[in-house]
Amino acid sequence: MSAPIFNRIALIGLGLIGSSIARGVRACGAATEIVGTARSTATRGRVVELGILDQVFDTPGEAVKGADLVVICVPVRTTSAIAEAIASDLAPGAIVTDVGSVKQSVIRDVEPHIPDGCVFVGGHPVAGTEFSGPDAGFAELFYDRWCILTPSEKSTPDAVKKLSAFWQALGSNVETMAPDHHDLVLAITSHIPHLIAYNIVGTVADLETDTRSEVIQYSASGFRDFTRIAASDPTMWRDIFLANRDAVLEMLGRFSEDLSTLQRAIRRGEGEKLFELFDRTRNIRRNIIEAGQETAEADFGRGHTISSGED
Ligand code: NAP
Repeated sequence: MSAPIFNRIALIGLGLIGSSIARGVRACGAATEIVGTARSTATRGRVVELGILDQVFDTPGEAVKGADLVVICVPVRTTSAIAEAIASDLAPGAIVTDVGSVKQSVIRDVEPHIPDGCVFVGGHPVAGTEFSGPDAGFAELFYDRWCILTPSEKSTPDAVKKLSAFWQALGSNVETMAPDHHDLVLAITSHIPHLIAYNIVGTVADLETDTRSEVIQYSASGFRDFTRIAASDPTMWRDIFLANRDAVLEMLGRFSEDLSTLQRAIRRGEGEKLFELFDRTRNIRRNIIEAGQETAEADFGRGHTISSGED
């Protein structure tokens, strides 16, 4: 248990990320009191049933009153409306942060609403699953994962320090980064891979419909792994691509050029070129495992039981 870093933390949005923060804070003691709100009565009711917050309010304005830390955990293009809705209810000196997967657009949209005496520091826990909603959250989600803070010129060093301590208490490794650099790095490491997954699963689904074949039934593990990523929340990912348009388009340009090179190598039978790339990429995976960001177990650590009905 850590000593409380904040007195009262308010979570706006109680899905995978918001509810994981609530559970994590409960477990580590980083705040004395946890309150929050979500858009729908269904989610608010479910969170009351789960008992992971001390109090659930009907509106964002009510939820942030008296909070010294406010964490906005909604899809990125909704963040601005939330900032506007809470502005007049923020306690003097409150630190406001978010968890959005895109940072430049969020800072641009949120900061104008932050009143004098309060501070906004953008944040992004690089941790998640393909599941959504309050039941999907768990306290260990951020453990040993990176949390990137993207302070702007208006963010104070004191607020950045307190927020870093908060994420460390949840088990994260904290890094600060310029917002534009964050968006470029995440475009290639997270956003483009999701776009590829959405695309390939869409292509296979169309093929299945067109040919009435058994493509899905007999899909190899490569395709199955893409379907996990492509099962991610459609609202969240629509917002990410629209909010990080420039960085995604730039990285997509590079990706397309490299794909054309591979296409040509296959057409020309240039096996050495293919082998050289595949060998290099295998080393990248080894480096990720060595950095503790992935399991070395076969088939991504999925447990397998032998059953007579499976071969
Ligand atoms: P989620 O499970 O779908 O939860 C979203 C929450 O936001 C829900 O409580 C929802 O309320 C609320 N919400 C949606 N629209 C709203 C609105 N207009 N006003 C008020 N509340 C609203 O999503 P999540 O995975 O927690 O993602 C939240 C944020 O975390 C996103 O910005 C995402 O980019 C970022 N993030 C996600 C991941 C990931 O892997 N999922 C990882 C890192 C960062 P209702 O339930 O009532 O609709």
